[in-house]
Amino acid sequence: MFQSRYDLVVAGGGVAGVAAALAGARRGLRTALVEKTVWFGGLATSGLIYIYLPLCDGNGTQVTFGISEEMLKRSLEYGPGEIPPGWRRERNAAEARRYRVIFSPASFVLSLDKMLEEAGVELWLDTVVTGATVEDGRLSAVSVANKSGCGELRAACFVDATGDADLAAFAGHGCIEAPNALANWTLEYREGAVGLAPNCSMAIVGCSTDPETVPPGISGRTVSEAVLAGRKRYRERLEREYVSGKFDRRSLFPLMLPAMAELRHTRCVTGEFTLEPGMEWTAFPDSVGLAADWRKPGFVWEIPYRTLLPKGLKGVLAAGRCSSSRGDAWEVTRVIPAAAMTGEAAGVAAALSVAAGITPDRLDCGVLSRELTQVCGFALHFGDLGLTGEGR
Ligand SMILES: Cc1cc2nc3c(=O)[nH]c(=O)nc-3n(C[C@H](O)[C@H](O)[C@H](O)COP(=O)(O)OP(=O)(O)OC[C@H]3O[C@@H](n4cnc5c(N)ncnc54)[C@H](O)[C@@H]3O)c2cc1C
Repeated sequence: MFQSRYDLVVAGGGVAGVAAALAGARRGLRTALVEKTVWFGGLATSGLIYIYLPLCDGNGTQVTFGISEEMLKRSLEYGPGEIPPGWRRERNAAEARRYRVIFSPASFVLSLDKMLEEAGVELWLDTVVTGATVEDGRLSAVSVANKSGCGELRAACFVDATGDADLAAFAGHGCIEAPNALANWTLEYREGAVGLAPNCSMAIVGCSTDPETVPPGISGRTVSEAVLAGRKRYRERLEREYVSGKFDRRSLFPLMLPAMAELRHTRCVTGEFTLEPGMEWTAFPDSVGLAADWRKPGFVWEIPYRTLLPKGLKGVLAAGRCSSSRGDAWEVTRVIPAAAMTGEAAGVAAALSVAAGITPDRLDCGVLSRELTQVCGFALHFGDLGLTGEGR
């Protein structure tokens, strides 16, 4: 059994976990990032997602900033996408289409590796978090397993960025669970298709079903069944295309399948506060940032700090898909820009808490707000950007 000690341990290396680890390490915390696959980026990369959804409100105003924007730009470092007009060096709101990009998932992995190396985060790939130790209501260690066997990572503070609130659930926290849809995003060669780049016939295509197809929550069985059913749907789709005579196995074939279960909503923490449907344009004094609804221009949400705090469990913050939301509100917090934003906020809160020798639930929100606005460049409230909700 191996053992290590850190200031901050981040469980899960999706965009939320990467942002949390970067924010902690850049503030001098000895930070470990534990990821069960060998790719950072989570669904955004292993799940073959390729659209970095908008950082703007759809009416020409950028609402999400910080590492979320840094990652959007770095996702293009080794790939073919472009920042849309209006959001390049010279900002021009009149020209601005939605501030989103198309990226190559593999390129994004290379950039995330580089960002984490630059920040000096200790990286634990191919390492799965298997359990949690709670002492006096405070998370004190996570159990992990990898090729060396089983081990324990202790820390002053933790971030649950596993996407499915594994860490909180392993600690006995009562999570919120949601039903899901099946999905299978596949990178395929399709002769004549307009793909990820000009003159490139490699495109990512998705098969999805309506919600309710997968039982609420997540378990070992759910993951196996969802992944196999998603792949079966893709197989059936290929077979239909071959039978139609339009393509054959030389003009249409899969190049890469998703390497993780593509489940959007599974399990998140029950926060000190839970963001509910209809709370767009609701002001929260403890907001840690703004997120736009990627489906509806003009719908903006303040995200309260309390959604990152699992009720009754100290020493840990939830980020990304694990933060506390329900229903339609989850649609807003679960996507890449918002997940990276709550990840950064969690990393900053962890750094301030460790420096003050307190658990994150006791952190003064004024101190957190100052760091997020003055150092990270976040806008926290609608009024910071002159947004009123008119024009939606
Ligand atoms: C089908 C589908 C399509 C989508 N399309 C888009 C889109 O076009 N644009 C967009 O912006 N968003 C899209 N999303 C949403 C978005 O990609 C994710 O919700 C977002 O990236 C979530 O980031 P996260 O870091 O919170 O979680 P995740 O991406 O789920 O990351 C969690 C990470 O933790 C790791 N992990 C999990 N459990 C453990 C454990 N026990 N131990 C160690 N590591 C663990 C996982 O391997 C993973 O790397 C889509 C999602 C799905 C499912």
